[in-house]
Amino acid sequence: MTTTPFGRFFLPGPTEVHPDVLVLMTRPMIAHRGRAMSNLLAGMLNPLRALFRTECHPLIGTCSATAFMEMAVRSGIRSRVLSLVSGSFGKRFAAIAQACGRDVVTLEVAPGKTVDPDMLRDALIRTEVDAVTLVHSETSTGALAPLEQLAEVVHEFDGVMLLVDAVTSLAGCPVETDAWKLDFVLTGSQKALALPPGLALAAHSDRMIERAKSVPERGGYLDIVSYAEAAENNQPTNTPCVSLLYALDGQLKRNESAGGVEARWQRHREMLEAMERWVDQKGHDLGMSYLPAKDRRSWTVSCLNVREGTGRTIQHAMADRGWTIASGYGELKHHTIRIGHMGDHTVSELEELLGVLEEVAA
Ligand SMILES: *Cc1c(COP(=O)(O)O)cnc(C)c1O
Repeated sequence: MTTTPFGRFFLPGPTEVHPDVLVLMTRPMIAHRGRAMSNLLAGMLNPLRALFRTECHPLIGTCSATAFMEMAVRSGIRSRVLSLVSGSFGKRFAAIAQACGRDVVTLEVAPGKTVDPDMLRDALIRTEVDAVTLVHSETSTGALAPLEQLAEVVHEFDGVMLLVDAVTSLAGCPVETDAWKLDFVLTGSQKALALPPGLALAAHSDRMIERAKSVPERGGYLDIVSYAEAAENNQPTNTPCVSLLYALDGQLKRNESAGGVEARWQRHREMLEAMERWVDQKGHDLGMSYLPAKDRRSWTVSCLNVREGTGRTIQHAMADRGWTIASGYGELKHHTIRIGHMGDHTVSELEELLGVLEEVAA
């Protein structure tokens, strides 16, 4: 067991889990078809709706978030999809669609950039598709897509489902499932929700279920129709990881008593602003700069350019002092670092980290 105090683990997933949440997972098992389970699930309905800003019955899967990317593909794409790619997770969405036999057209921009609404409109005019996949906060580059505006563009076209990976945005910045008419919004437990890995969560529109019913061979285990039916009856589809459900229930309650989702967004906004201040005031002199442009930065993960080849060294020097940050992802490995300021972290913990980073990078 480590004795590192809370507030030093800044990966962009998995994020640090509060000891009060961890301990909930030691509770005894319950029958997955019994009353205790349906009470547990029923009790999470409204907090989950508040988190996703939806009136639907949100879906809970005890699988990692990527499984729900596959659910989105299998249930939401009939034959041809436009996949927006601005980093590794956008690429993953496209690859899953391809692996599921869908015809995939990609619209790709450079790492750190995001697809603009006008680009999306042009692509949808040129290419007939029945769905669009996109990643809201691209964890590999720290770029935040203008989701509300992109959703407006998608809705200019009939019968095009909008499937959104909100894994590092949901609970960390505004995601308005119903107001922005998002057809499928998925996240995972180990990012801004600050839970252990292993849960996928999603909200959906009514037309997403209608779409799924029109797609033959959408599979069994990840069939959204059976998930939605089970959710409406406060039932799990199969035997869920009960311990993780205890943790989710507890974390939803902690979140409500800390002011709900809007307070959570606000705290993440303040962490981004603290990061930006630091980069302006100190980071630039140390050879660091943001990869994404000013108004396209994720509220939960900052990807900073560092001097070529120093990424690993900085990461290891931080580790030697007891602080965990991430190296760059994929092709960005050698010249970026990533700081995941999400979950239950606070501005003061982040500022402490930045003080150490300044010493290490000097
Ligand atoms: C972490 C992450 C995923 C994958 O989550 P898993 O739980 O590892 O399957 C997908 N998309 C984004 C944007 C992520 O950050």
